[in-house]
Amino acid sequence: MNQYLRNLDRLEFIMTLACTGSCRHCSEGSHAGYSERLDGKKAAEAVISAASAYGIKSVMTFGGEPLLCPEDVFMIHSAAKRAGIPKRQIITNGFFSRDPEKITLCAERLVESGANAILLSADSFHQETIPLEPAMKFAEACLKAGAEDIRLNPAWLVSPDDPNPYNLETRKIVSEFEELGISSAKGNVIFPQGNARIYLADYFDLSAPVVNPYDEDPSDLHSVSVSPDGSLLGGSIYREDILDILERYTPDGLGAENV
Ligand code: SF4
Repeated sequence: MNQYLRNLDRLEFIMTLACTGSCRHCSEGSHAGYSERLDGKKAAEAVISAASAYGIKSVMTFGGEPLLCPEDVFMIHSAAKRAGIPKRQIITNGFFSRDPEKITLCAERLVESGANAILLSADSFHQETIPLEPAMKFAEACLKAGAEDIRLNPAWLVSPDDPNPYNLETRKIVSEFEELGISSAKGNVIFPQGNARIYLADYFDLSAPVVNPYDEDPSDLHSVSVSPDGSLLGGSIYREDILDILERYTPDGLGAENV
């Protein structure tokens, strides 16, 4: 086993960078012009393969908006379930259609596929461009379909307790979901990257170094993330077995060049 991945226990899949939202806090910046989707069949093979050699405990699909490519998402969660991976998580903004039938069907198939931790991104920032009604409809449909765990995952500005106008509006949205029986996870605190650095600049000290809470120690990776074009750590799950990519990895990136 690759010593740099001795603690690898999580696989993440960025399904697409296309998005139905256009959030002012998005760390990815603008999503305009993206259309590429991750191939769910190849990603499902990667899940099975990685789980055969590493102690993978969780798989996550996200984006952009992952439910713009629902079939690919279903394939990944279903493979993770077959591979015995206990936590199968999706982060979605819940808005991929306004058609109630399509929303219900997608929620049912998502739950059926094995996704057992659904995190719904809803807050004052998302709801500036994402209508609340279809997102709530989706949440209700997931509950009805028997979702084991569906929670709100709000973004907070400065800190969850800071009384800025964005957080106050987010608290109202959180209460609306609570009325449906959906509680809130801890969520995340926005950091100054991408759109947040431009549109929320007044809330940050931009002269300070940016601390990305998702950065990991490259010599001890706990999770790896596959991009919408299938790339991972300098290799591609479209061209080779994920185990070969993982085996070749070195923190300086030189391992990736020995292909
Ligand atoms: S924060 Fe999420 S929903 Fe908003 S634009 Fe970025 S990826 Fe889309």
